[in-house]
Amino acid sequence: MRRTVFNEDHEAYRATIRDFIQSEVVPVYPQWEELGHPPRDFYRRLGELGVFGIEVPEEYGGAGEHSFKFSAVTSEELAKAGVSFGGSSVHTALCLPYLLAYGNDEQKKRWLPGFVSGEIMTAIAMTEPGTGSDLAGMKTTAKLSPDGTHYVLNGAKTFITGGVLADRVLVVCRTAAPTKEDRRGGLSILVVDTKSPGYQVGRKLEKLGLRTSDTAELSFTDVKVPVEDLLGEEGRAFSYLTHNLPQERLGIAVGAYAQAAAAVQFALAYVQERTVFGQPVAGFQNTKFVLADCQTEVEAAQAVVDRALDAHDAGELSAADAAKAKLFCTDVASRVIDKCLQLHGGYGYMLEYPIARLYADNRVNRIYGGTSEVMRTIIAKSLGL
Ligand SMILES: Cc1cc2nc3c(=O)[nH]c(=O)nc-3n(C[C@H](O)[C@H](O)[C@H](O)COP(=O)(O)OP(=O)(O)OC[C@H]3O[C@@H](n4cnc5c(N)ncnc54)[C@H](O)[C@@H]3O)c2cc1C
Repeated sequence: MRRTVFNEDHEAYRATIRDFIQSEVVPVYPQWEELGHPPRDFYRRLGELGVFGIEVPEEYGGAGEHSFKFSAVTSEELAKAGVSFGGSSVHTALCLPYLLAYGNDEQKKRWLPGFVSGEIMTAIAMTEPGTGSDLAGMKTTAKLSPDGTHYVLNGAKTFITGGVLADRVLVVCRTAAPTKEDRRGGLSILVVDTKSPGYQVGRKLEKLGLRTSDTAELSFTDVKVPVEDLLGEEGRAFSYLTHNLPQERLGIAVGAYAQAAAAVQFALAYVQERTVFGQPVAGFQNTKFVLADCQTEVEAAQAVVDRALDAHDAGELSAADAAKAKLFCTDVASRVIDKCLQLHGGYGYMLEYPIARLYADNRVNRIYGGTSEVMRTIIAKSLGL
């Protein structure tokens, strides 16, 4: 189906990012997989290229665009090439909206130029060992010092993407205890300097997929965080999360759709080249039907993603619609990638084939950013259930 969602600027950006991926990522990607993340300097290179600054206002060194579609273009091109930019999608797709919406002028001046250049890499820490889906159950605390100059942060977070290389982490924590009437109250966001005494990066977690994304445990022991590093208002973090999670979910939906589309392309190439029983795998009716089904599902997911991208750029994407996009596209991707792997036979199980990496990388899409079950809960609520 013809796509109308991207304009000339998006397509010009696509051409640049595609060349960049081919020349500066694909050749060194196996080394990143070995290391478990890109080298720190690669993020400065992305900064130089302008990838981090697209949606940052010009006064802070960015390009001042108002379109999440550039981020979607990056996801699509990365999926096509079977690579990633490490954990840096969190920096732009997740952290930036919080800094832009809730940062004050002084904070923006202090953080955004470094954010754009890749000098200050950010991550966001919500999940704790004891709580993920139920964010109101967080136990990490931040107590204001008696003289009111700083918070004292204590607690632990886990599964934090970009946690090893981050320079600032948006830590969601309790600045007041929950009440019976309002479990969600009392949460705040501190933008914590990872060099602060008492801040510790624990294990870099070994994952099934996403081998170049540094996912870490973090712990905080009496970390002094200046009051100037409180983002937005104290106690309002839950409403900030509710406001920003739809973009995170849209980003995951786009990534899942792009991975499914890439899987079909990998399978199409493979089945035409592999010969079995004296004929290309593509010659079997089963292969044709499977790929026809896959392509149909991919285009349905594309239609959902495109509609959601338009709605988001227009400021109209609801929480329920973002949840539907994530639920649908991640389910499609799981089915499609599995079928495309099957068409590769045993080679599909070998990590040197991009379909095997896609299979492993895609699985988490139904878990992070809110699980599929949580997406169903949100959608059901919108139905009045
Ligand atoms: C690779 C990776 C990267 C991540 N990156 C980050 C990050 O950068 N920052 C961050 O803060 N977090 C991150 N996460 C955490 C992620 O968002 C959580 O893992 C996710 O929200 C689920 O929480 P949980 O793991 O605690 O599962 P749980 O909440 O313990 O869920 C366990 C099971 O219970 C089900 N369940 C939960 N609630 C309901 C319900 N109401 N109805 C029915 N079933 C339910 C779930 O669907 C799931 O099947 C990451 C996770 C992974 C795996």
